[in-house]
Amino acid sequence: MPEGHSIHRLARQLTDVFAGQRLEVSSPQGRFAAGAALLDGQVFEEAFAHGKHLFAAFSSDLYLNVHLGIYGAFTFGGDEHFSGASFIGAPRKIGEREDHGLLAFSAQPPEPRLTTRLRLVSEHGWADLVGPTICRTLTEPEVAQVRSKLGPDPLNRDADPAAFYRAAARTSRPIGVLLMDQAAISGVGNIFRAESLYRCQLDPFKPAKDCSSQQLEALWEDNKQLLELGVKLGRIVTTDPADRPGIPDEQAWPEHANYVYQKQGLPCGRCGASIALEEVAGRKLYWCPGCQL
Ligand SMILES: [Zn+2]
Repeated sequence: MPEGHSIHRLARQLTDVFAGQRLEVSSPQGRFAAGAALLDGQVFEEAFAHGKHLFAAFSSDLYLNVHLGIYGAFTFGGDEHFSGASFIGAPRKIGEREDHGLLAFSAQPPEPRLTTRLRLVSEHGWADLVGPTICRTLTEPEVAQVRSKLGPDPLNRDADPAAFYRAAARTSRPIGVLLMDQAAISGVGNIFRAESLYRCQLDPFKPAKDCSSQQLEALWEDNKQLLELGVKLGRIVTTDPADRPGIPDEQAWPEHANYVYQKQGLPCGRCGASIALEEVAGRKLYWCPGCQL
């Protein structure tokens, strides 16, 4: 599943491609036909993200709300005015990278697929959405209601980390489970979860309410920093430059990108213990039993 940084990149790209333009909005597949009809012919104002939810405001005061889930993805294309990633969404290769392949320099979108839920077309570019968990229109109060149930997103400037600290203080669930709970903190997925806990030397199984305020603040700050780098790079790179001398951020992926994610059985770079892999709450958790105490 794409982590929060991908959704923020998606929001930026949608805004770059479509802001201020009147769009043709359709649902070639038909499953979003009624919603598309409400947005068709309206001006796209701007898109923003909260965790793994994407919102896009239209001039009719309606919002498009998309959650990509595990399988959802956008493809983009356009004429010579278009620049950006051609693909953002469900990873097609290990490592949750985006596809920066050849851009489709065509003002006209391709024939829709049977699964194309949503198609946005402007004068200069187009975007197709397939496979989302959520694709719907919302009013402004409904957007506020959805957002009120989400934990703070470290990538949002107005995010209040205190809400995350309060959620932690209330639960004896392991901190490694809480980090994946979108109602406690938004946008952190499996890779950022494992990597931030390793970087903060925290036992993933420690009950959240037993974590000190310093530990929770360190986790928030670390996830914020890692997510911000993810937005910049379009890839998840969690290693400090000091741990990969001579290799810049842009070249760290995949070999030097992470400390514990998919490193099970390999020696920990910090203590030499064997990196462990366990299934926790249905997701694979990577961690070092030697130094995450
Ligand atoms: Zn270790």
